[in-house]
Amino acid sequence: MSGECGQCGEATASGYLCHRHTVTLARRLALLPGLDSDLTAYLVPAAPRFGERVGGGGATSRPPINLDVLDLLQANRAAQVMRSWRVDVQRERWPERSAPPPASLAADCRWIGMELEWIVADYPAAGDLAREVKELEAELRSLGAELPADHVRVCIAVTDDQGTVCGAVLTWRPGQVLRCRTCRTEYRSAQDLALLQHYQPTRVA
Ligand SMILES: [Zn+2]
Ligand SMILES: [Zn+2]
Repeated sequence: MSGECGQCGEATASGYLCHRHTVTLARRLALLPGLDSDLTAYLVPAAPRFGERVGGGGATSRPPINLDVLDLLQANRAAQVMRSWRVDVQRERWPERSAPPPASLAADCRWIGMELEWIVADYPAAGDLAREVKELEAELRSLGAELPADHVRVCIAVTDDQGTVCGAVLTWRPGQVLRCRTCRTEYRSAQDLALLQHYQPTRVA
């Protein structure tokens, strides 16, 4: 069976996505849950009182979080969109089964990723799925670029072999890597950010 890619229109030997867009979709499915939780990590102030103390008396006049991001995450849109795709794929592939039980965004993305071979070969809506996942990724990334620059975090890097923690206040500018200006440590991956969140002072206290 020959066809064309539902995302770019390129002719395919078989199925509903070209090889390039199959690979891209698999990569995006693996990325989405991390992007979503990165935003959550930045959004929920780990230490609002700590932030006020550092910022001085004027800090309370600024909203501590980005309300647009909050709306999106409260609506849990990424999870809802991926859930509806999972439900639809399962219904097409195994019409006799009942709907899948509730699961996390990560679990739904993983499930869809594992069904990718079938999706590409036999699921006519594969191109729509690929496009929607692409849009979600772009949306999460653009929101990341709008996160508040004055959101207070302190650097958790250990700076000597006595276990001294840097502790410098980190500021993050849209579009830049989060980097400590004192010790130059960079926080890049979802895991770096999760650790940073976890070890903030008021969490420990
Ligand atoms: Zn394509
Ligand atoms: Zn540092």
